Amino acid sequence: MHVGILGGGQLGRMLALAAYPLGMHVRVFDPAPDACAGQVAEHIEAKFTNAEAIVRFAEGLDVVTFEWENVPSVAAGYLAGRLPFFPSVLALETAQDRLDEKLLFESAGLETAPFRTVETREELRAAVAAIRLPALLKTRRDGYDGKGQYVLRAPADEDKAWETLGPMPGGSAPGAGLLLEGFVAFERELSIVGVRGRRGDVRFYPLVENHHRDGILRLTLAPAPDVAPERQREAEAMLLEVMEELEYVGVLAIELFDYQGRLLANEIAPRVHNSGHWSMDGAEAGQFENHMRAIAGLPLGSTEPLGVSAMVNLIGTLPRSEDVLAIEGAHLHLYGKEPRPGRKLGHVNVVARDRDELAARLARVQALTGGEERLGSFGARET
Ligand code: AMP
Repeated sequence: MHVGILGGGQLGRMLALAAYPLGMHVRVFDPAPDACAGQVAEHIEAKFTNAEAIVRFAEGLDVVTFEWENVPSVAAGYLAGRLPFFPSVLALETAQDRLDEKLLFESAGLETAPFRTVETREELRAAVAAIRLPALLKTRRDGYDGKGQYVLRAPADEDKAWETLGPMPGGSAPGAGLLLEGFVAFERELSIVGVRGRRGDVRFYPLVENHHRDGILRLTLAPAPDVAPERQREAEAMLLEVMEELEYVGVLAIELFDYQGRLLANEIAPRVHNSGHWSMDGAEAGQFENHMRAIAGLPLGSTEPLGVSAMVNLIGTLPRSEDVLAIEGAHLHLYGKEPRPGRKLGHVNVVARDRDELAARLARVQALTGGEERLGSFGARET
């Protein structure tokens, strides 16, 4: 089977690495000459707006998927008209616009932070009056890792937020396409990753706990500590509703806020997700393998965890591989990318039999990553 992946970053690379043992051949499409998936798969290097390259990419493929959610709809639409294309174009387009995403959550019956659309300075004033501060002003499109967001804490922040995000990119026209969202003083951030096959069969990984800093995920604990079985079921039901609304095939993630005993939906990712990386070593079948199984119409693999896990992102700089690999239960995943500040270069999965063992192993990994991910709550929670 020949699989095409739109986007050739680390997610595409790990999808390809999971695909080959299943007997698949992978071709990625990415404009960057050094796209890291190109080290392990055939690489078509062209812009997503290059129609000739998209046609060349499609040649001989059996199925197409994507690992980057800003793939232009025109390219996705062309491919979906000719080939099995999973997840659906609807899922891709919904994830590209925070308003569509919110409307999806509403129609699927998921609770979210209160929000108002904002297109003019006057509308921002009205939205602040309705939602009240603190609040976040977000661009509807092209935001990721906390970019395209402004936190408003005091009335004076309104002008600053508008100056930062209001004017349309490249023009002086008033800002179009913003959303003001109520600030949720969440207790913690969770996410759930699941997979739906071509016949509607579903599997869910356990809820995981995520720790971000500067808008970038640093640490995932899997399963999330202190999750009652009803909350897991609730999260699975939320994911299932969204999957069904989107006629979804493949891996889907929802980021959630754990707030006063409720799960509030923040964002969907219609793809394999950073908070699911632990599953490569910490679950019976990892998210990358399950995504490939799903889009190929194969039976899904078990999402059962193997003990307890943590995932530490390696951001900006890398520890010495031999130091990581000397730690029992630590699995190193490097993406083959040039180090650069703020760049995700790899991750370490740590697997253990119980939480005490995990806390000890995680502390050793965190000591190597310059203390950047030294968040501590996990160890503290357990003692
Ligand atoms: P997002 O790009 O929407 O995933 O937001 C990035 C991060 O900003 C989230 O992981 C949260 O830590 C924080 N954040 C986003 N929306 C809210 C909100 N409504 N209330 C509080 N924090 C938020």
